[in-house]
Order: sequence, then C-alpha cells, then structure tokens
Amino acid sequence: MSTVARRAKCPDCRATVLSGLDEGIPVRVEPEPVDPAGELAALCDGRRTYGLVADGTLALRDEWRIRSGVGLKLYVEHPCGAR
Ligand SMILES: [Zn+2]
Repeated sequence: MSTVARRAKCPDCRATVLSGLDEGIPVRVEPEPVDPAGELAALCDGRRTYGLVADGTLALRDEWRIRSGVGLKLYVEHPCGAR
C-alpha cells in the first residue's frame, strides 16, 4: 500500500519533511524537490531518492525507474531515515 505524501515534522529532528508510505514502508524525504543532477549527487552520497508520481505517492527510484523516467518530481531521502 502507498499513501499520498504529506508535509510532516520529522519525529527525530523536527525538520519539515514529506512523509508517506511506499508499498507499506514509511518514507521521509526532504521537502524541496531536486533536479536530476541533485538526484545523482544524492545517489553518489549513498542516499536513496524518490519520485513523486501522479497519484501523489512517493516511489523509490530504483535503477529501472531512473532509466524509465518514472517520477515527476524528485526528492532525496531525509537523512534521519537513512540506515
Ligand atoms: Zn530528521
């Protein structure tokens, strides 16, 4: 199940984030979208990126999605959620 991403406060650092579920997994991303260069920089940094898709949910940008261009706006995962 995926839910529409909404603005929320990170429970750890109180920063504003976008929060939603991606196929049942809670996702928190930085509230400002990045361009493809920003996405690449984040990926090189070991952070995951998500695309905000047409139904308002965040979808993990795996290799297939990056190549196929799924995701209208790109967001970088909020570092508190990083493992
Ligand atoms: Zn945080």
